[in-house]
Amino acid sequence: MHIPEILREDVRQFLQTHHFDLYIGNPFSAAFFPSGSDPLIVTRANYSDLPKFKGSMKNSGASILAFGAGSVFDPAKYIASVTNSHLTIIPSALSVNSFTTHRGSFFDGHSKKSINTITPNVIVLDFDLLKGAGILNTLGIVELASTATAQVDWSLAAEEGLEREDVHIRERSNVLIEKTIDLLKNCDTISERLEELFEGLFESGLLTQAYGSGRPVSGSEHTISSYIENQIECAHGAGLYIGILIAVALQKLRGKETREVKLVANYLWKNNLIREHIKKQFDKKVIEHILSIVRPQEGKYTIIDDCHPEVFRLTAQKVCDKLFE
Ligand SMILES: [Zn+2]
Repeated sequence: MHIPEILREDVRQFLQTHHFDLYIGNPFSAAFFPSGSDPLIVTRANYSDLPKFKGSMKNSGASILAFGAGSVFDPAKYIASVTNSHLTIIPSALSVNSFTTHRGSFFDGHSKKSINTITPNVIVLDFDLLKGAGILNTLGIVELASTATAQVDWSLAAEEGLEREDVHIRERSNVLIEKTIDLLKNCDTISERLEELFEGLFESGLLTQAYGSGRPVSGSEHTISSYIENQIECAHGAGLYIGILIAVALQKLRGKETREVKLVANYLWKNNLIREHIKKQFDKKVIEHILSIVRPQEGKYTIIDDCHPEVFRLTAQKVCDKLFE
């Protein structure tokens, strides 16, 4: 288990007083880097770009700084793992759990491939900067809400004898779900509760490390989302919002719906802020087409495997009709 060190600092000050061998960012964060830093700019974590990412760092045992969100962190984690380097990350939003996981996700043209990388060594938190991330922080709650549907999928896989149980991780996951439900209930005050959101995402990543895979916090909703995110450049939580609603509908249909899943779905449906963002972000026809090509993920048994493809199609259709009405 690798637990990153957390520093609470002003980002500008931190960057003025620390030097790194490689800076990785996106067009937003690169503006903060010192002049002459020659950063690697990443806007998308593509699997086919792994050789390019690897080639961007010639030395091993170096120091790397990654500033941004998931699309920056996953390549940075990969580069740090293959070059045995020290990795410091600065989140620009609290939207994903990847800053405390050892896994990295990369788009492969259909969905996402998840591979082993490393957990960052240091996380720099600047809550003044994070407050500016707006809806991205709200979508971080959706990332946490995945835990509810993922737990049902995990039970299903365990019943099939395809996944091991872990009572201790179950208990921690349930605590995380209760905290998530409380955050979901009060989405409009999230900018005052960023510490709690960070703690939730931190714990979500640690659960992934403790179990050895994303199973406790990532299930069918992530599989569905990976198809959406592969075709549309959107925040992880935006794809997950649709993924969770479909996963819940399927779980309900198969009589697997839990109290937690029901509560999460109710709050997500009722949340106008997220719902309007989703409707603005996505076109119904495009989403319907993407959902028609979703297939179960190999090696990860979920509710999608448990449903006939036609049942999946009809359920996804119903969710889209309600969402885009
Ligand atoms: Zn996720």
